Amino acid sequence: MPSYDFDLFTIGAGSGGVAASRRAGSYGARVAICEESRTGGTCVIRGCVPKKLLVYGSSFADAFADAPGFGWERVRPRFDWAKLIRAKDAEIARLEGVYKNLLESSGVTRIEGRGRLVDRHTVEVAGRRYTAAHVLIATGAHPVVPAIPGIEAAITSNEALDLEALPRRIIIVGGGYIAVEFAGIFASLGSEVTLVIRGEELLNGFDDDVRATLALEMRGRGVEIRARTEIVRIEKGPGGITATTRLGEELGADIILYATGRRPNTRGIGLEEVGVRLTETGAVDVDEWSRTSVPNIWAVGDVTNRLNLTPVAIAEGRALVETLFNDNPMKPDHTNVPTAVFSQPPVGAVGLTERQARAAYGAIDVYRTRFKPMRNTLAGREERTMMKLIVDRATDRVLGCHMVGADAPEIIQGFAVALKCGATKRQFDQTIGIHPTAAEEFVTMREKVPEPAEAAD
Ligand code: NDP
Repeated sequence: MPSYDFDLFTIGAGSGGVAASRRAGSYGARVAICEESRTGGTCVIRGCVPKKLLVYGSSFADAFADAPGFGWERVRPRFDWAKLIRAKDAEIARLEGVYKNLLESSGVTRIEGRGRLVDRHTVEVAGRRYTAAHVLIATGAHPVVPAIPGIEAAITSNEALDLEALPRRIIIVGGGYIAVEFAGIFASLGSEVTLVIRGEELLNGFDDDVRATLALEMRGRGVEIRARTEIVRIEKGPGGITATTRLGEELGADIILYATGRRPNTRGIGLEEVGVRLTETGAVDVDEWSRTSVPNIWAVGDVTNRLNLTPVAIAEGRALVETLFNDNPMKPDHTNVPTAVFSQPPVGAVGLTERQARAAYGAIDVYRTRFKPMRNTLAGREERTMMKLIVDRATDRVLGCHMVGADAPEIIQGFAVALKCGATKRQFDQTIGIHPTAAEEFVTMREKVPEPAEAAD
């Protein structure tokens, strides 16, 4: 058995890489991790965490707007964007420090610099070579933008988190997670937001009722959503940005933000040179154990483009380490993964959409409710919450749980446990609600939505 410097060498200190390395360290493995940017990766440094802090910051606008309905007077606060960004930056710096300490206290050697595979057991970082029995690729992904004239004037989510000033007008291109989350942040803070989507609806892949409800409520909050619209050219002048659509219409703004998807970071790190196979979309091709085409090289997280969510990357990393260093073979489980979109109002979902369930199960029952949450009554807010359950008619098992409305991400997390346990609609019905909450609607829905054919009659 050849001797290596390390048992595991991880390239990329984001959520997946850090989780795997720390767990491996705790099992006594000799572990090193390298990172070319800041420790913490997309989620901590330029994704989930700073984004959620901005969502919190912007959501005070609702509280101030609603307060007079509850008896508060003279609620006219002033918002300071630079102050929020400074506070957010300080928190991210603190978290980065926590991540570094956690790695060190797990006995993981931190190496600063970009890692590149030299051969299947050797990684070079900043001119030094390190050998390892196993190599883990956890390099994440980066935003991609279409190649249209003037695209250099556009920003991505990376820059949107650090803008010097709050834009008065912003165009956001894309209808996925990132686009709708930033639309919510800027709209709540008072920017004029135009969301440009090439399709008919937002949030491709989500349940149709979620998609329609979110679009309705975002429009209700003043976001202009332009469907079936494609921007073909961007120009930057003294007056700001002009984006021209395929139909020749000109849209003006101070900032144009592209949130048109992300691509795995697989270039320039020696993957193909050592025989690691990539998929057609440029992701690392892995099997269900996260093993690449080179047996001692593994990959987890966004670089594999399976389910691009932080907790999934962490689960993939930990499963791998259980397999390699704890004699506990474990495959990551990608079924019934709950997800949330921190739009305003937010979305939470777990399990199958109505469309997916019909395709997979045929006979399903759908329960749906829309209501004005109690808080919105005195507030005078028209916004409604939508909740939906999809049930397999043959087994009564709940296949999907979907919500648009306040606290949806917090609520859906609990129902994800129920779905993981295979809960039936009857068990939902037997569960006593907590009153008065919105969440109780999930255990009190009795009326089935008519079948599409019946509804058409
Ligand atoms: P998504 O893949 O979610 O969405 C991309 C959007 O851009 C889609 O609406 C897509 O349209 C559109 N699009 C793609 N190419 C073009 C183009 N050339 N011109 C115009 N529109 C285009 O990507 P995001 O960047 O929003 O997010 C990346 C990933 O990050 C997500 O998939 C998610 O996994 C993760 N994420 C998770 C979050 C969370 O859990 N809350 C938050 C943020 C990100 P179409 O629908 O027509 O394809």
